Amino acid sequence: MKLNILGCYSATPRTFTNPTAQVLEINNHVFLIDCGEGTQVQLRKHKIKFNRIKHIFISHLHGDHCFGLAGLISTFRLLGREADLHIHAPKGLKESILLQLKLGNSWTNYKLIFHELTNKESEVVFEDEKVTVTTIPLDHRVYTNGFLFKEKEGDRKLDMNAVLNEGIDVAYYRKLKQGADVPNLAGELVKNETMTKSANPPKSYAFCSDTAYNEAIIPIIKEATVLYHESTFLEQHIKLAAPTKHSTAKQAASIAKQANVGTLILGHYSTRYNDLNVFKTEAQTEFYNVLLGDDGKVFEF
Ligand SMILES: [Zn+2]
Repeated sequence: MKLNILGCYSATPRTFTNPTAQVLEINNHVFLIDCGEGTQVQLRKHKIKFNRIKHIFISHLHGDHCFGLAGLISTFRLLGREADLHIHAPKGLKESILLQLKLGNSWTNYKLIFHELTNKESEVVFEDEKVTVTTIPLDHRVYTNGFLFKEKEGDRKLDMNAVLNEGIDVAYYRKLKQGADVPNLAGELVKNETMTKSANPPKSYAFCSDTAYNEAIIPIIKEATVLYHESTFLEQHIKLAAPTKHSTAKQAASIAKQANVGTLILGHYSTRYNDLNVFKTEAQTEFYNVLLGDDGKVFEF
């Protein structure tokens, strides 16, 4: 899995900081998560091929998470895109995008497919043979979802020494990888576990922005490989966090600790702060394995 942070600051775009957008590369998918203003420029800077993006996941309809979408859709058309584009977003975004296209007497020459989200319970919004994407209902001023991207259990790995020793026909390799017992050269059934090893444990990435401190998400993100959790504020401004329904770095770390995730990445910083290291220090009072998200950073896990 590879996570490209295109932007991870709250509120307005500035010279060196961008609103929220991330690209997650997982099992050959290139998923765009949120699309703040200027996302298409950041995509170009990161050299991410536009036509590899088939699914876009939008957490909520505050501008710093979706104002880049109309522009991106329009650019896709100008570049001659033909592939379908799926947009998973709260109800309302479809209406707003279609109105903008209509007022500009514009349309797309590719299929624009909206999957409107209204459910307040966690639900699967995308699934194929290798990956599932599930919503993480968050507690914010408007209807908001985070997203949990999870690999499915992979195929078992062949122990080639054992397989060749038994004289297993190549035609049975696929069944072996799927966990079946298969016949050897003499026609005797051989136990799968004597010829295969278990697959690598599936990895997962939980994206949680924007949200107040919310313990209800813990069961959904439990044991995630990586958690991105917003930390708009530091504890010194906790009085601002509650009414705006955002979190502090310490609160983000407390969620990471309770969910027993592998790594916590912080982001969605208020632009009032100049030194991001303070976020890390504050978070590490609760949970040690903390990384600072920042525009342009790429994490592989
Ligand atoms: Zn917001």
